[in-house]
Amino acid sequence: MADVTHAQIEPTTRCNFACGFCAGRSMRQGDLAWEAFVAFLDAHPGLLHVELQGEGEPLLHPRFFDMAAECRARGIAVGLITNGSLLDEERIERLLVAGLASIHISMESADPDQFRRIRGGKFAKVRQGIARLAARRRARGQTQPVIGLAVTVLRETIGALQGICDLYMAERLDGGLLVQPLQTMASYADRYDPAMTAQLLAGEDWRRFLALRAALGQALPVRRTEDYFYHALYAGFDPARATCPWLDHGAYLNATGTVTGCCFMKEETDAFAAAADRAGGDARRAALVGTLDRGIVPAACRGCSTAAAIVAARTVSAA
Ligand code: SF4
Ligand code: SF4
Repeated sequence: MADVTHAQIEPTTRCNFACGFCAGRSMRQGDLAWEAFVAFLDAHPGLLHVELQGEGEPLLHPRFFDMAAECRARGIAVGLITNGSLLDEERIERLLVAGLASIHISMESADPDQFRRIRGGKFAKVRQGIARLAARRRARGQTQPVIGLAVTVLRETIGALQGICDLYMAERLDGGLLVQPLQTMASYADRYDPAMTAQLLAGEDWRRFLALRAALGQALPVRRTEDYFYHALYAGFDPARATCPWLDHGAYLNATGTVTGCCFMKEETDAFAAAADRAGGDARRAALVGTLDRGIVPAACRGCSTAAAIVAARTVSAA
């Protein structure tokens, strides 16, 4: 097995927002134990990049800054996705001296009413936090962390992407947009209520979404894409020649202290191993890679587009 170089670590499932599409809202609420966090790092000495993000607001973890410092002390790059609601003066100063590679702030719309309807939080406060973070970074003469936005696109917010881009430009951000459609994997979609299910992209929505995403990719100033965890993890991925990057050289540590293949695996039966059990995790990774190589989507990966692309490529090459 390749070494695990990239890991997403979920500091907590607690959140002060209430997004209707968030799996975390129906999961056990709690924080990752410090001991499990350190045990995971100890068991994976090849780590190059950790993304502190999961189904809760990372900055609510009482030891978030200790986590970032522990990673940096080990030479591991650190990225953060936050809902942006806790970006007060003190946290911003701490974030700017923490040595983070990237910070992305999540939102679906820059319209305050739509934002509140979807997230249950105040857009003005988030906007103020983004402006303050970007201004303080400039004032300090720092180029890192790059600052961008993470966007989940619902059917009703495809048209809101322009407003998000306007915000990006107005605040002179440089970390790009991480744009993904509302998740269709069962581990997420099974938790949606009927109103949220109606927000899944369908038919013509997809054409609009893909066209807009491609246009945005070219329109926005973006710096150092190698700083983004997901870009680095998927760099050079070709389903015809390689397996899933998560299974090859990635791992997901959830807030219960259990390792899985990626964030899509939320059932207890999906668990690979305890945080410290590197051999157990490697064995489960190898088993899923073997299943994909036989042209079969493992049960834990059902509905995943990466798994589907790999299986399609294996099926074509076997024909
Ligand atoms: S802000 Fe993020 S973690 Fe919090 S409810 Fe929304 S999607 Fe979930
Ligand atoms: S194939 Fe999909 S579900 Fe399976 S580990 Fe990879 S990203 Fe996750």
